[in-house]
Amino acid sequence: MSKRVRVRFAPSPTGGLHLGGVRTVLYNYLFAKKHGGDFLVRIEDTDQSRYVPGAEEYIFDTLKWCGLEPDESVQHEGNYGPYRQSERKETYRKYAEQLVKDGFAYYAFDTTEELEKMRHDYKTEQNPSPQYDHTIRMKMRNSLTLPPDEVKTLLDAGTKHVIRIKVPEKETVSFIDMIRGKVSFDTSIVDDKVLLKGDGMPTYHLAVVVDDHLMQISHAFRGEEWLPSAPVHILLWKYLFGIENMPQWAHFPLILGPNGKLSKRDGAKYGFPVFAMNWTDPKTNELTEGFKEKGFLPEAFINLLALLGWNDGTEQEIFSKEELIEKFSMERIHSAGAKFDYEKAKWFNHEWIKKFEVSGLRFEVKSLLEKNDIPVSDISLLYKVIELVKDRCTLLPDFVQQSSFFFKTPEQWYVDAVKPKWNEEKKKFFELFIEEINALENWQSAVIEDAFKKMAALQNIKPGELQLPFRIMLVGGKFGPPVFNIAELLGKNETILRIQNALKVFG
Ligand code: GLU
Repeated sequence: MSKRVRVRFAPSPTGGLHLGGVRTVLYNYLFAKKHGGDFLVRIEDTDQSRYVPGAEEYIFDTLKWCGLEPDESVQHEGNYGPYRQSERKETYRKYAEQLVKDGFAYYAFDTTEELEKMRHDYKTEQNPSPQYDHTIRMKMRNSLTLPPDEVKTLLDAGTKHVIRIKVPEKETVSFIDMIRGKVSFDTSIVDDKVLLKGDGMPTYHLAVVVDDHLMQISHAFRGEEWLPSAPVHILLWKYLFGIENMPQWAHFPLILGPNGKLSKRDGAKYGFPVFAMNWTDPKTNELTEGFKEKGFLPEAFINLLALLGWNDGTEQEIFSKEELIEKFSMERIHSAGAKFDYEKAKWFNHEWIKKFEVSGLRFEVKSLLEKNDIPVSDISLLYKVIELVKDRCTLLPDFVQQSSFFFKTPEQWYVDAVKPKWNEEKKKFFELFIEEINALENWQSAVIEDAFKKMAALQNIKPGELQLPFRIMLVGGKFGPPVFNIAELLGKNETILRIQNALKVFG
């Protein structure tokens, strides 16, 4: 029987979640849901020097916003906890000790100074930064070089030490990556990574393997940047739990920015978000803007992320989460880096706003308007307004410009756009138009438009010349949906009032 599908996202809580991180979550999530499996989040916080307050909470807030909540995590009850590695500290030592006993790892007593000296003494032109590896290990102070009784004495005395993996000298380590196919590494270039640190904490390498085993992970998916660590993980699987029990691996392609790998700095430089939500670095107070705050819908955000490295083999680009679950397949993820294009990202959001039901947008729009001091008391008007303007909005804040004038009479008019062509005839037209529409019984855009055009013909003015002034009277500026639709939603009295007010200013 094949294993139950269990996948994990294993972030280190060191800062905001960028596009690549959320895409890793998404692919894990889609795979789990497609196969009726479990998606869990494990917090990998063994490197306490990199701990950043608030980062863990941020990760869960982001997953919630994206609608990608795990089945098991520190916040979601599960049977394989704790889901925070710092709370599993006691678990790891015995595996490291087992490796030492079996000859696959060793104690190393080298001090910081000794390690520095090694890096200095063995530095050559060909090897500018020597590593602790098979060429060096026998020249250092460890349980491979010291006599056994001395090792025992040092350990008994509680001498600070680490446990390092003893990477075989000339072996080829291979595994099948679900995206890349067979990947092989020559172990002679892999260093003897620390597995257990001086403070008794495991390093990421040991903890990831032990926890993937204990949490019965069937598939381990992560970003391509982790590929160089894979040989150490494969060796650990081989030595501890057996290669046949290892999860299936996949390394997702890098996300590329305008110049190579997408970085946080690209965001600041080119003016687009890189993080899912706003992130304020607690040390520097530096704020990095998120997709959420920029005005992206979570549905659009996960849709655009899904397409950064995957497609379903057709031309389709807009997918709901449910469709993604149905169509997602690892075979269709490409191994080449995926280029992030902000204009395209905005296109996705625009398509999603258009596709959305008004009821799904109303809370967002209402709160955006209210944040901009535009009180919205008439909810049925809000519905009609959203319906009318949503096709013109790319990012959610666009709703502010496109709809505030429905709820608030303009206080200023873009008079300069009208003035040069303003004359007595046009003024006359609007005065007569007020009388005309005042008598209308049926207040609908088509009827208003009809009255407008008839009156223009009577006055011998091209309606095109009157539409801009009319728009500026109602809106204040040169934007918004078709002007007769605006008039319809404003209602007769308000339309007349706005024309009268503007006429006073236009002169
Ligand atoms: N803790 C690693 C990270 O911060 C996880 C890598 C993995 O999934 O194995 O991304």
